Amino acid sequence: MAGSTDNRPPGAGHGGPAVPPPLWLLAELTYRCPLHCVFCYNPTRYASTGAELSTAQWVDVMRQARALGAAQLGFSGGEPLLRDDLEELVREARGLGFYTNLITSGVGLSPARARRLKDAGLDHVQLSFQDSTRELNDFLSHTRTFELKQQVARTIKEHDWPMVLNCVLHRHNLPHVGAIIEMALALQAEYLELANAQYYGWAWLNRDQLMPTREQLREAEAVVQSWRERIGSRCRLLFVVPDYFEERPKACMNGWGSVFLSIAPDGLAMPCHNARDLPGLSLPHVGEHGIADIWQRSQAFNAYRGEDWMREPCRSCDERHKDFGGCRCQAFLLTGDAAATDPVCAKSPAHGQIVELVRSAPARRHIPLVFRSDAHSRALG
Ligand code: SF4
Ligand code: SF4
Repeated sequence: MAGSTDNRPPGAGHGGPAVPPPLWLLAELTYRCPLHCVFCYNPTRYASTGAELSTAQWVDVMRQARALGAAQLGFSGGEPLLRDDLEELVREARGLGFYTNLITSGVGLSPARARRLKDAGLDHVQLSFQDSTRELNDFLSHTRTFELKQQVARTIKEHDWPMVLNCVLHRHNLPHVGAIIEMALALQAEYLELANAQYYGWAWLNRDQLMPTREQLREAEAVVQSWRERIGSRCRLLFVVPDYFEERPKACMNGWGSVFLSIAPDGLAMPCHNARDLPGLSLPHVGEHGIADIWQRSQAFNAYRGEDWMREPCRSCDERHKDFGGCRCQAFLLTGDAAATDPVCAKSPAHGQIVELVRSAPARRHIPLVFRSDAHSRALG
């Protein structure tokens, strides 16, 4: 029986029934993955986390989140197809009225499995690619998956799913952005997300190797814009610039504890899937606390909710309603203080650090890439 999260510090935020419900439930079903991406967003210490939730526990989480008001459900990981109960979870989610998304590397999406997921009611699929060339795709994921992903993309279209292709960009594949768009068009993707690597998780370890130049970004953005003009709405192209090249931060998670409720494979509930690495958070476990209680009253979900936690320069800034002071994980990684203004912001006293990191990255490119693997994760834990 779930208990009450009675650990909210005084004045920590906006707990209680007035908190609007989450829109998204992100179910990170497993940290296991057959790929070894150098920019993987999973925590670097994933190998030392606890046992995965059971099917019954996930069903319970979904029922509670839906009752609270969540409407969209993302099944992600790791590779969610490694869970044999995925079809069962999709069926349950659909029955509850969720709009369901599968976020996958494609490994394991055979035609037979696709048919079962279609029958279970899966609404939407996001498939990741590493590059338009076999060479770079296979190198960056440390697997031979290029052809398999092409086949999976065809399978997705044969099952009439709307398809988002996702490709993480960085200095190795930015020159290929035109070819990546051509590939997405050939595979009939409705949407192509060209998201430059952000430096958390494994990408934090490989930051200097992945860091593009301003020139590369400018050229790639111009290529994307010219394709947008040519193809109109045939395939929508989203190009996300790396934070380090901006002067204002993104509205991370659309505001802490505002839209996203993320549940890690071991059952820890998080306002952001990187929150495990932030100090001072008492992350609640779904086996010990009810979802409504976690969302509304837990210390972790209230720690940076709203604006009460902000310091200067954010506290008196007229842009604070737009970006909520930026990303807490980025602030912590770069300043050691999770409540600091995100150093991406030019108003942050630490902004010069980012400028210097971008400037000096080429001098550190002799450091070898670290591929995501259980062995590396255990060594880092
Ligand atoms: S980023 Fe790569 S290694 Fe990480 S979960 Fe996704 S496919 Fe797996
Ligand atoms: S000072 Fe804070 S609120 Fe203002 S723009 Fe920068 S990060 Fe946003």
